[in-house]
Amino acid sequence: MRTSVAGVPADALRRSEVEQRLRTAVAGQGKPLLVLNTNPEIVLQARADQGLLAALNTADLLLPDGTGLVWSLRAAGQSAERYTGAEALELLLAEAARLKLRVFVALRRGGLTQPIEFSDALRRRHPGLHVDCLSVSPDASPGPTDAELVIANFGAPEQELWLTRHAAAFPKARVRIAVGGAFEYLTGRLSRAPRLLQQLGLEWLWRLLLQPSRLWRIVRAVIIFPFTVVVSSMFSSKKTSNTVRVRFAPSPTGYMHIGSLRTALYNVLYARHHKGVFALRIEDTDRARLVPGATEKLQETLRAMGLAWDEGPVIQSERLDLYTSYIRPLIDNKKAYPCFCTAEELDAMRTAQTARKQAPMYDGRCRSLTETEARARLDAGTPHVIRLAVPRDRADVAFTDAIRGEIRTPIGSVDDAVLIKSDGFPTYHFANVVDDHDMRITHVIRAEEWISSTPKHVLLYEAFGWTPPTFAHLPLLLNSDRSKLSKRQGDVAVEDYLAKGYLPEALINFVALLGWNPSGKQEIYTFEELVAGFDLSKVNPSGAIVNFEKLDWVNAQYLKRLPDARLAEMAALELEKAGMIAKQGSGWVMPASGRVVTAAWLAGVVTLEKERLVRMPELPERVKFLFAAPTDFDAKLLVWKKSDATRAKQVLTELGEWFAGYGGGWTPVDLETAVKAWIVAKGYQNGEVLWPLRVALTGQAASPGPFEISALLEKDDVVRRIKTASARL
Ligand code: GLU
Repeated sequence: MRTSVAGVPADALRRSEVEQRLRTAVAGQGKPLLVLNTNPEIVLQARADQGLLAALNTADLLLPDGTGLVWSLRAAGQSAERYTGAEALELLLAEAARLKLRVFVALRRGGLTQPIEFSDALRRRHPGLHVDCLSVSPDASPGPTDAELVIANFGAPEQELWLTRHAAAFPKARVRIAVGGAFEYLTGRLSRAPRLLQQLGLEWLWRLLLQPSRLWRIVRAVIIFPFTVVVSSMFSSKKTSNTVRVRFAPSPTGYMHIGSLRTALYNVLYARHHKGVFALRIEDTDRARLVPGATEKLQETLRAMGLAWDEGPVIQSERLDLYTSYIRPLIDNKKAYPCFCTAEELDAMRTAQTARKQAPMYDGRCRSLTETEARARLDAGTPHVIRLAVPRDRADVAFTDAIRGEIRTPIGSVDDAVLIKSDGFPTYHFANVVDDHDMRITHVIRAEEWISSTPKHVLLYEAFGWTPPTFAHLPLLLNSDRSKLSKRQGDVAVEDYLAKGYLPEALINFVALLGWNPSGKQEIYTFEELVAGFDLSKVNPSGAIVNFEKLDWVNAQYLKRLPDARLAEMAALELEKAGMIAKQGSGWVMPASGRVVTAAWLAGVVTLEKERLVRMPELPERVKFLFAAPTDFDAKLLVWKKSDATRAKQVLTELGEWFAGYGGGWTPVDLETAVKAWIVAKGYQNGEVLWPLRVALTGQAASPGPFEISALLEKDDVVRRIKTASARL
């Protein structure tokens, strides 16, 4: 049951019911929940903040918090019980620990308490809990994660907005919850009020004593917010009309072209930069080109790329009535007309025009039919389309492109475009304009290929008497020979790149710079930097060459910067796929040897290759020597350039014996210190020992260093490999 306090719905469920709902959702049995905490300040603030209001209205469960709010709910006849964020969170964390779920905590970057401290405190309270803490800016997307419990802790209203806005980054989330002060209780930074005060609902007084700075929040709640509410309501009509609203309007083709990703991204960047709305619309009215499952796949790819939409998807094929309702007034006002020409007539017209070296276009013959003639044919059920009556009494049609400036087209080259096809479906042009108007789109940011359609769209806006949005046509994407980037020359599907192991954030960085660079000085930007620097007028109108080698470089840069824990997880997935490790309980083993694979070992594997890796799927091939001793290498490789086979054999034999008796530490540093001391004692040169050792371990001419590798192998294995190698010399 829902009720409204100052226009904001607040849940007035019984506490036990709330707990039940939380338990069901976190167990993965019910619908995933978005849970927000409302207190009087948030309710007031939502009156002045459309985004927050929308976020609160999106929530599945609102926990009434704060004494004032509970009183208001009671006064409104609702049996509201206080159920605080701290209580809900405690329950969720306990359940998450029990069910071994992944918990993701987003904290304010540079906030007082650091992520490690947080996760440690949480793990102490709930042993076995798997917590990933990330400090992000409230404007940033975390990129997709597979967390099942997502907690945002930025303080209101950023945390509510963040959770709503980045919903798509958490496709597996069962519960997403925004909590503020609860964290301070949970991590023990703040002690809870004595029971009596809690029962009297005076916990706030206790907190005020411990944290006098909270007085400011009360001042905001009581004085500043009411003031902003009054001011914003005075200007509200103006404010809403200023909000930037953009959309990504793909036709579902079954895959997402790199160019479409760039279009989607630039729309997102523009929306975020202007604190506006990014909507998704699926343009699927071309029934002949319908690909089953394509719409779902498209949304999945957008989500995988961390590009969440605030509204939609608006699906055109579900709105056919809307388009039909808009065509009637156009016909009545003579801005559109029925055309009965058959395919044969149109073909003949085209052939004749081409023979006269004219650009083929509809000659407007059905425009001259009288109303009675047209009516008679319509009544007789003659197949027909509806065309735009392009005004022929003017010289041109113009619009100002935000990237290219004024674009003027002679009216003679604008066709009487079909608006409604003979099957009654709207064409792209008609549905596109009606929807952009209906969705209150302020900026149409799309690919250059639509420039030639825009004059028709502008005329349609005029025909309706609507103000057109601002148009911005993005530069073409080109191959290195400046031909249009197409499927024929290689992979252009975003899905293919994801499948090859390119990181979503690297792909985003890469496509962001196709036609624009925030500073012109660097190649790697965070999402926040892209948002902050985005400016349509700085987009280069000429075609952008797509160099996929640069994507490799960008991806490698991102891999280097990822935290080792995430790299280790990704590595485990790849090694598992390659059959080199297998799941056992909550960990892994090497199926060939039965050796247990720990998280620390995986982190070591990643460190070994991190500097050289371009894509994670390359890892198994690069580290295959860790899983099986090399066999098929040329024994000559064991001989260092300044040594010979006899010497190499002697060195390896002695080294093998030494290793067999070695009982010291097994880290790269321990091993390096011990082996180098042995080398000095023996009077050998480093190269004549370390080269054959490395080759004995890997069988490769080039590989990481022998100490890092040895540390990842078991001692017996190292000894065995050295002995086998010396026997081959
Ligand atoms: N459906 C068109 C496409 O797939 C959208 C063009 C537009 O954004 O207006 O590119």
